[in-house]
Amino acid sequence: MTYKTLSGKEPAEEVLRDIEHRAKKLHRKPMLAIIVVGEYKPSQIYVKRKIETAARVGVDTEVHRLPEEIEEKELIALIERLNQDKKVDGYIVQTPLPKHINAQRVFEKIDPHKDVDGFHPRNMGKVLLNIFDENMFPPATPSGVMKILHYYNAPIDGANVCVVGRSNIVGKPIAMMLLHHNATVSICHTRTRDLASYTKNADILVVAAGNPGLVKADMVKEGAYIVDVGTTRVLIDGKDKVVGDVDFENVIKKANCSPVPGGVGPMTVAMLIANTVKAAEQNLARLNKKS
Ligand code: NAD
Repeated sequence: MTYKTLSGKEPAEEVLRDIEHRAKKLHRKPMLAIIVVGEYKPSQIYVKRKIETAARVGVDTEVHRLPEEIEEKELIALIERLNQDKKVDGYIVQTPLPKHINAQRVFEKIDPHKDVDGFHPRNMGKVLLNIFDENMFPPATPSGVMKILHYYNAPIDGANVCVVGRSNIVGKPIAMMLLHHNATVSICHTRTRDLASYTKNADILVVAAGNPGLVKADMVKEGAYIVDVGTTRVLIDGKDKVVGDVDFENVIKKANCSPVPGGVGPMTVAMLIANTVKAAEQNLARLNKKS
């Protein structure tokens, strides 16, 4: 029996083709602003990817780089400027932020209409309430996971799902989205007793722990659908590599599994740009209503 590699590249291309088409219909290019605080190396790589992908589909970007030691109130002052800036349709604050800055307090200052990462409590609340309307932005990574599962026809309705990780930006929202698709969801975390008893029972397993090699082949159900969100940078033979949470090489002999890299990463970027185009569409619709 061979199982599917749940590559994120093809579903991401599908999303990007649609975005490009929609962006062309607008009178001007959508604009995504990106705030980067400090020099954290992986963030620089992710931001570069976002800029390149946006450019490919006709979305402009501008980057605001702030020094590591910036005070929270200065970051919030920039956020307030971007909230007022008419040429910016949406923006994101690249995480992780330095430890002296309270990320949640920062997210709450973002205008929900421009919150294309979907981290504002209003957008998060809508995920909880299953209100995916024209005014909301679902968080990009969980939306990307859903897109991968749909693209590869993973049967979600009635499935036993295990989500490993309970963060606000990945674990909790993906658990809610799967619940809204009628799955029975268990959310596991560092205090879960006997993690394998949950993962083994899962028809769909989403792993977002940031713990390389956490999920091994003997912990998964034969034929399950497994999406590995984890990305950890490690040095292998002197080279900087990205690895996931799942032992892909062995798990793929037993179940369908997304690779790292090339799985959730490209999907996350595509969903972020999709939210930006949606923000531009909504922005123009509001302007037309006023005039
Ligand atoms: P986080 O550190 O906020 O949360 C990790 C969660 O995993 C916690 O809830 C913790 O309880 C759980 N966990 C950790 N070790 C565990 C273990 N041994 N057993 C059970 N649970 C365990 O991280 P996050 O922001 O949710 O990100 C998770 C991973 O996903 C990270 O590797 C991050 O880099 C990656 N990520 C990737 C993308 C992408 O686009 N590919 C986007 C966001 C996050």
